[in-house]
Amino acid sequence: MEQVEKTALVTGAGKGIGKAIALAFAQAGYNVIINYNGSKEAAQSVLKEAESYGVKAITIQADVSNDEQVKAMIDQAMEQFGRIDVLVNNSGINKDGLMMRMSLEDFHKVIAVNLEGTFNCIKHVSRIMMKQRSGSIINMSSVVGLIGNAGQANYASSKAGVIGLTKSAARELALRQIRVNAIAPGFIDTDMTAKLAEKDKTKMMEQIPLKTFGKPEDVANVCVALASDAFSYVTGQVIHVDGGMVM
Ligand code: NAP
Repeated sequence: MEQVEKTALVTGAGKGIGKAIALAFAQAGYNVIINYNGSKEAAQSVLKEAESYGVKAITIQADVSNDEQVKAMIDQAMEQFGRIDVLVNNSGINKDGLMMRMSLEDFHKVIAVNLEGTFNCIKHVSRIMMKQRSGSIINMSSVVGLIGNAGQANYASSKAGVIGLTKSAARELALRQIRVNAIAPGFIDTDMTAKLAEKDKTKMMEQIPLKTFGKPEDVANVCVALASDAFSYVTGQVIHVDGGMVM
């Protein structure tokens, strides 16, 4: 019997956690669609690395907060591969600041990328997965979406919203055997956390029972497992990847 080649689309896959996720799917034998917004060269080097696992890979530029660009990305992905088995909504930004100084523009920008971007991608990819009657969607939330964080009202709201969106999508799509789950990473070593002050990192470490910061691969491994048949009865869940920070 001919084996179906599976395809995974990872947003924001040029660097950080998204890069590790795209490479983990490539290593697991999936063809990968590497979305990026600004990191063109980085995405190109992820493509080369993915291809070294013997799978097909393409890069597609799209701002996930722009519905038309997302639609064009999905059309291009379908032209190339004809199916999308896994969507990982990984793209995310932060614009931190205390609420009394936070502009509405900075509040909305973070919601637009983190929450509306996730909505845009689910909307267009779910149409394809509905026809396939299969699929796994994984949305990147954060422990901050569960417990809040001073200075991150916009980011925490977006990540809490991602959890509501995940559960609603899980209920809407379950009849077509499409599973939708979220991952809530704690502190993972990437560009996003590199900008934190040392004193904030030390404070954060005190709250992590496993006493170590996470690596992008820690999140990537959970994504591949969650998309696999081993997790076929799991939907609408939020999986914490945080060294025990929130329990
Ligand atoms: P990162 O290194 O800053 O990477 C962010 C990624 O998002 C980049 O690939 C970037 O793409 C992409 N992106 C930003 N705006 C975009 C847009 N408008 N359209 C498409 N892509 C866009 O951050 P990271 O730490 O890897 O974070 C990845 C995800 O995990 C985010 O959703 C973040 O909120 C979440 N998370 C991270 C941590 C952590 O501790 N690091 C903890 C909890 C949750 P370009 O570079 O191409 O623009």
